[in-house]
Amino acid sequence: MCYYEKIHFVPCGHTEPRRIQYCHFARNDPNHQCFGAWNIKREWEQHESECNKCIESRQTVHFSKSQYQVR
Ligand SMILES: [Zn+2]
Ligand SMILES: [Zn+2]
Repeated sequence: MCYYEKIHFVPCGHTEPRRIQYCHFARNDPNHQCFGAWNIKREWEQHESECNKCIESRQTVHFSKSQYQVR
């Protein structure tokens, strides 16, 4: 199994796992997929930024807004 860290994004309240070390199976898989159990090695808090999903959705909204203004 692979090693993960769990990040708590304080501004949006979400948590996001991040792989920090591939196991033998994931390393040999072309897509680095792992079907083993998750091994959370550490947890920490991110106070400065929101999770990637929130940042992405924010950028999408911003993008569609600027598109709208062009029209
Ligand atoms: Zn693994
Ligand atoms: Zn979020």
